[in-house]
Amino acid sequence: MTVAALNWNALDWDRFATELEGIEVIRDPAQVSKLSKDYYTYSPILVLLLSDKVGDVVVRPASEAEVLKVAELCVRHKIPLTVRGAGTGNYGQCVPLQGGVILDMTKMQAVKWMKPGIACVEPGAKLSAIDKQTREIGWEIRMAPSTYRTATIGGFISGGSGGIGSITYGQLRDRGNLNAVRVVTMEDQPRVIELRGDEVQKVNHAYGTNGIITELEIPLGAAYAWAEVIVTFADFMTAARFGQTLSDSDGIIKKLISIHAAPIANYFAALKSVIPPDSHCALLMIAESSLEPFGELVKQFNGTVVYQKSAQEASKGTMLCEYTWNHTTLHARSVDPSLTYLQTLFPPDKDLKLLEHMYHHYGDEVMMHLEFLRANGTALPAALQIVRFSTPDRLQEIIQYHEDQGAFIANPHTYVLEDGGRKAIDPIQLQFKEAIDPYGLLNPGKMKAWDQRELG
Ligand SMILES: Cc1cc2nc3c(=O)[nH]c(=O)nc-3n(C[C@H](O)[C@H](O)[C@H](O)COP(=O)(O)OP(=O)(O)OC[C@H]3O[C@@H](n4cnc5c(N)ncnc54)[C@H](O)[C@@H]3O)c2cc1C
Repeated sequence: MTVAALNWNALDWDRFATELEGIEVIRDPAQVSKLSKDYYTYSPILVLLLSDKVGDVVVRPASEAEVLKVAELCVRHKIPLTVRGAGTGNYGQCVPLQGGVILDMTKMQAVKWMKPGIACVEPGAKLSAIDKQTREIGWEIRMAPSTYRTATIGGFISGGSGGIGSITYGQLRDRGNLNAVRVVTMEDQPRVIELRGDEVQKVNHAYGTNGIITELEIPLGAAYAWAEVIVTFADFMTAARFGQTLSDSDGIIKKLISIHAAPIANYFAALKSVIPPDSHCALLMIAESSLEPFGELVKQFNGTVVYQKSAQEASKGTMLCEYTWNHTTLHARSVDPSLTYLQTLFPPDKDLKLLEHMYHHYGDEVMMHLEFLRANGTALPAALQIVRFSTPDRLQEIIQYHEDQGAFIANPHTYVLEDGGRKAIDPIQLQFKEAIDPYGLLNPGKMKAWDQRELG
C-alpha cells in the first residue's frame, strides 16, 4: 500500500494536535516550511526537485514515550513521518517528499551516561555538546562532520558518513563505530527495539526510513589537545603527497588532513591574512605532543607553516575544521553561489596516479579538495571537489568519467538512499523496514528498495 493511496490528506490537524496530548506542535506555515528544508541547495539538481516540498506540521517530542505516542497516531491515521535532527544534511534527507509530520528530535538531547570509551546519548544531542561532556573524563567523540557545532548525533548516524577523526577511525558504517541503538517502530502498535552489535547496521545510515532512533550508545576515542596548523606547498601534488605520507605516519597523532588546490583557499575570507593568494595548502589537526615529528615531515616536503594555534588558542573563535569537509564548499559558495561539488573516493594508491590525472584533466572546472580517511585499514584520499557547474549533462559527464576511470562517486545530487554512496539495495535494511514500517510511512520516497518492491 503506498502512502499516496491513503487518505490522510483529509486529516483534521486540529484534532491531531489535540490527540498529541501536550506534545509540542508547530503549525505556523513559515516555521514548518523552514523545518522542511536542509542544505540540499548545494546541488542545483536537488533544488529543482525539492524546493516545493513541505510538511504539514512539526512535532517536537521530549522523550521516548512521546515519540511512541506520535508514532502511534501517525500509524493510526496513516500519516507520513519524516525525522529531523538539525537539518544540516546535504541531500534533502529530511525533506518530507509527501508532506505529513516532521518529527524534530532536538529536544531529546541528554547525555544519559558516559564511561571510559563509551557514551549513551539521546539522538538530538549536538556533537559538540556530547564532546564537551565526554572530554571532562578524557574522552571525545571519534569523528564528527564539520557541522560539529550544530548537527545532532541521530542525524549524523542516520544521514552522515564520517569526517574529522575519520583518518584514525574510518567511517560511521565501519563495524565498531556504533555500539547500540534504541529504535521506535511504526507498527500498528509501535514499540521500542534495542539493536546491538552488527544489528545496528539495520538502521545505520538509512535516512530515517526504517526506524526512529531514540537512544544511541557510541564509542569514544582518547581526547588529545589538538593543535591547528596550515601548511602551504609549491604545488598541489606535493601537498597531496604530503597528505598521503602524513596519513601513513602511524607515529604522528592526527585528526584532520584536508588538502586544497589553488584557488580554493582564496574563498576563505577570514584566512586571507594567513594564507597567501593562490596557495596549495593543508589544513590540519595534530596532537600537540606530535608537533615536533610533524615539523620534520613538513621539512621533508619543503612546506611552509603559515598558521599554528595551540589547542588552548584554537578553542576560541572559528575552528579550522570549519573550512574543511563540506564547509569548504560552503565558503566557496558564499563567494560564488553557482559552484557545486562532488564526493569521490580514490582507489588506494600511494602514488596517487588517478588523482593526479583528474587534477590535470579538469583544471579549474573541478577544483581538487581532499580529505584523507581510513578505509579498510588503508589511508586514502576522499575528494569533495568544487565544481564549476554549467549544465546537468556536463555534471553527469564528469561523474561518468570519474567512474569509468575507477574512482568511486558518492553522488551528492540525489536524495535516494541507494543512488548516493551505497549504489546497491541493502536487503537487511529493506527487510527491517518491511517488519517495522509495514505501511511505508517513514520518510517515503527515499528508499528505492521499498519503492521498487511496491511497484513490483
Ligand atoms: C557545511 C556542511 C558541512 C558538512 N560536513 C559533513 C561532514 O564532514 N561529514 C558528514 O558526514 N556530513 C557532513 N555534512 C552533512 C550533515 O551536516 C551531517 O551529516 C550531519 O551529521 C547531519 O546531522 P543533522 O542533525 O543535521 O541531521 P538531519 O539533516 O536533520 O538528518 C539527516 C538524516 O537523518 C535522519 N534522522 C535524523 N535524526 C534521526 C533519528 N533520531 N532517527 C532516525 N533518523 C534520523 C533524517 O530523517 C535524515 O534522513 C555537512 C553539511 C553541511 C551543510
